[in-house]
Amino acid sequence: MMHRLLLVSVLAVLATVLAPADASAQYFGRNKVQYRAFDFQIISTEHFDVYFYEEEREAALDAARMAERAYARLSRLLQHEFKEKKPIILYASHAEFQQTNTYPYAIEEGMGAFAEAQKGRVVIPFIGSYAEFDHVLRHELVHAFQYDIMFKNAALDNVNPFSISLPLWFIEGMAEYLSIGHIDAITAAWLRDAVLSGYFRTIGEMNRRNDYLSYRFGQALWAYIGSKWGDEVIGLLLNRATRVGLSRAFETTLGVSLAELSQEWATAVAAPICRRSPSSTGPRPSHGPCCATRNPSRAPATFPRPSRRTEASSPFSPSTRGSTSISGSWTRGRASSRNA
Ligand SMILES: [Zn+2]
Repeated sequence: MMHRLLLVSVLAVLATVLAPADASAQYFGRNKVQYRAFDFQIISTEHFDVYFYEEEREAALDAARMAERAYARLSRLLQHEFKEKKPIILYASHAEFQQTNTYPYAIEEGMGAFAEAQKGRVVIPFIGSYAEFDHVLRHELVHAFQYDIMFKNAALDNVNPFSISLPLWFIEGMAEYLSIGHIDAITAAWLRDAVLSGYFRTIGEMNRRNDYLSYRFGQALWAYIGSKWGDEVIGLLLNRATRVGLSRAFETTLGVSLAELSQEWATAVAAPICRRSPSSTGPRPSHGPCCATRNPSRAPATFPRPSRRTEASSPFSPSTRGSTSISGSWTRGRASSRNA
């Protein structure tokens, strides 16, 4: 059984991703501290309303251009257009982002940005370099497309959009791949270590596990799919998966089962790593990796991860609580339907 989606995405580092499910209870009854009032103005582009305040004006103009550039690419790859403009709310710093009233709960240090489902908003601070901001913005805009497609298809099929179930590797891996465009150095390092140490995962295992590795391995799997079938199939897969489920979507679009895809992907990932690692001479399990002993549970806690500013994580949620949430982060197991 795949996980149900929680319809908000939140940038978070692993520490946040692994936060206890009831962590939100810690914030119950607390008021969010707002140190200042923000006098928002709007830059209206073809597909977005970009909210900013005066001190961000110059950067906001750049952000608006970045958003439209991302839209052009994503709408082509995902074969989808917004019917109405989506709000993008910009904050000048993470400290000011933490004061946002678009999100009703406390924003921890590790949360870098988020996208909402129902209001279709992306809320994001300027932190790090422009390149990092561009990546995070693109990542959240992928979620905006995912939400929009999911809601459209749910309406077509007359079903509750919150009943649509897709695993984290599918959603977040897609956001990472489409926002980065390839396998970056951090994901490559994770893949290499996973193959050599034995915790590389099959798709079946990824369907059952939702953690930081779902981002990294999911990105790698989408990169493999894009390189073999072309990035345009990503939109087909997303569309079909929201209507007929993951397995049928892959079978009807790529002509392979998830198990077959998993096998060939693992082999493709492992082969060059094993060739460059003469010390890895152990027996090779059928799933590909060259490690002698396979243990999908083993993953180092201290392996390199992006900082909050570059981490594009976040949380369509594996809710097992019967939640129909449209807001909140799965890092907190939010099970409400509140949305700011
Ligand atoms: Zn995300």
